[in-house]
Amino acid sequence: MPYPLITLKSGKDQSVRRFHPWIFSGAIGSMDRPPEPGDLVRVADQQGRILGTGHYAEGSIAVRLVSFGDERVDEAFWKRKIREAWESRKASGVLDLTGNNMYRLVHAEGDGLPGLVIDIYGDTAVIQAHSMGMHQLCHTFAEALREIYGPALTRVYDKSEVKLSRHAAGAPADGYLFGDHTEGICREHGHPFRVDWVRGQKTGFFIDQRENRRLLGEMSSGRTVLNTFCYTGGFSVYALAGGAREVHSLDSSRHALELTEENVRLNGFDDSRHRIIHADAVEYLKSVDVIYDLIVLDPPAFAKKLSARHKAVQGYRRINEAALRRIRPGGILFTFSCSQAVDQDLFRGAVLAAAIDTGRQVRILHQLHQPADHPVSLFHPEGEYLKGLVLQVDH
Ligand code: SAH
Repeated sequence: MPYPLITLKSGKDQSVRRFHPWIFSGAIGSMDRPPEPGDLVRVADQQGRILGTGHYAEGSIAVRLVSFGDERVDEAFWKRKIREAWESRKASGVLDLTGNNMYRLVHAEGDGLPGLVIDIYGDTAVIQAHSMGMHQLCHTFAEALREIYGPALTRVYDKSEVKLSRHAAGAPADGYLFGDHTEGICREHGHPFRVDWVRGQKTGFFIDQRENRRLLGEMSSGRTVLNTFCYTGGFSVYALAGGAREVHSLDSSRHALELTEENVRLNGFDDSRHRIIHADAVEYLKSVDVIYDLIVLDPPAFAKKLSARHKAVQGYRRINEAALRRIRPGGILFTFSCSQAVDQDLFRGAVLAAAIDTGRQVRILHQLHQPADHPVSLFHPEGEYLKGLVLQVDH
């Protein structure tokens, strides 16, 4: 039986024709039969022309398109998509980075696979499905990964949200689609890190900061560095390796600080140049007397939805203001936002407002983004979630 057919309201087909993969529920005119969440559906315009095929879901995004045509979306299709993602990583060079075995293999819309993330940690692949449709395909993806990597891949772990797993037939109880549980020591640009994909945030590690961490390492020599929101200590390790005089790693989570300490030790550094601080970032920055040479601000997403955007911008302004006040003249601020709903201009506006509030003179040295293994479809600008500025704070 062909997939259910969804016909869009008149005039609601423009964004699909421009390869934007989301169909909002309000754009749906009619359906020939009601699909179940996770079902594949075909989408057509008022004239009955097929515009694409995708996964149906309940919620404001009703369909996430995986194909902009009328092709068969079968096992061969999915395997081809995973292989194309691998080829893109090969072409961008991330597979061949020296001393590096962590990278994102599939970045959702950026790889034409909305709702699916696959991260590679050495011999382990971690799948995170954000839609029922993708979750139902976990076993197909695991097989595709085995075909690509062969014996080099010993484990595939399903890190999808619990509410999806309960619905999905055949979801493994312990999360392992194959292989057993052993935590991994992985490498990023030669630096070892322990990655706990089971209990860690996201898929276990913030791979998206790889290139930005390297830049920080290059700018850390001789400096006193504060790494706020340190999580597993990625920036701290690079700062120590780059010759920082002293590094303070701050997080509000004790578990995160333990992971940071472990990673600092794994990299051969002791406590002589490193200190952990268990605190709220803004409170610490407002109350501490220390003036730093370099501060990293990499908070969790302040706005997950458009409706939270205004509050998020205020949050970025507040925290950047507090950090700018704690930097010595000539010092450096690495400041980031990973809120999808706050775009580059808004973020820069918030940082500008913070600089005005402090009366300090600030120059932009670098504008930072997510790396090439987190690609952005030109037609889906929402995929560009990570933005950062490296600022020199002059006076
Ligand atoms: N910079 C990290 C990723 C940051 S994840 C990296 O490169 O890997 C966000 C971190 O912020 C989490 O570890 C979380 O525990 C911490 N956090 C959240 N709210 C906080 C707050 N108010 N003050 C300090 N840390 C906070």
